[in-house]
Amino acid sequence: MKVVFGGVRGTSCVAQPEFSRFGGDTTSLLVEGSAGGHILIDAGTGIRQLGERIAEAGDPSRALLLITHYHLDHVMGLPSLPLLYRPDASVWMASPPRAGRAVEKVVRQLMAQPYWPVQMEDLHATIRFLKWKDVASKKPFRFGEFDVRWCPVHHPGGCTAYRVDERGSGASLVFATDIEWALSSPKEKGDFLKLCTEPAPAGLLVMDGQFNRRGYAPFKGWGHSTWEDTVDVARETGVGALLITHHAPENSDQQLRNLEGIVRKTFARAGLARVGQEIVL
Ligand SMILES: [Zn+2]
Ligand SMILES: [Zn+2]
Repeated sequence: MKVVFGGVRGTSCVAQPEFSRFGGDTTSLLVEGSAGGHILIDAGTGIRQLGERIAEAGDPSRALLLITHYHLDHVMGLPSLPLLYRPDASVWMASPPRAGRAVEKVVRQLMAQPYWPVQMEDLHATIRFLKWKDVASKKPFRFGEFDVRWCPVHHPGGCTAYRVDERGSGASLVFATDIEWALSSPKEKGDFLKLCTEPAPAGLLVMDGQFNRRGYAPFKGWGHSTWEDTVDVARETGVGALLITHHAPENSDQQLRNLEGIVRKTFARAGLARVGQEIVL
């Protein structure tokens, strides 16, 4: 199983050259299975490139898109997903409801006039919507060679963390963006630690670590963790590796490289996610 990062930037995309090494696209991630399966997580601006990669990989193209929540940095790339315009493609979209609205309703609103010229009815791909409950999954959802689990995490308006296991190889990923660890309730923490450790400690944890503890106070309640929190979670759960994501849009490559050095001194199996990075699990 391979994990490919299409976007790692939080809040808004950035395009200046001093951000290009870590990348300026917002959150989107692709999981490629050994049997050719594709799972996308979030539809930030990074999804366009990932969609092209799926389209090049095979015909017909089929993908499951897991949406963590609908804050704009996580869905603004959806209308640019190339698969939506291909008659041979099928895209399943899954998410718990937000603000009382199911995934189909929100996506139809995103693609409606006056926000985008092409409407849902005019898309060529076969689209299916999966309504999931906003509670920790009891049983995994099977998609090809993958098992998908999830749980709600602490974030304004709600957000979901996902776990993807590949049944054949035992490879596993937990993806948790937009999670505020410091304000999480014991139940929220318990559900998330379980997601990271069951059925076995995840091979890779990708977690929001936009802030640091020294500078966290003014941003308390904004819905993000500190990198120190992510290291604590990685240690407690015994995951194989940690990649920190949702980088602040004002943090340049130089600042992120410096931060990565500091993080690695604390936890050797950690790093900062970069656009284009591919991890084989
Ligand atoms: Zn975000
Ligand atoms: Zn958010």
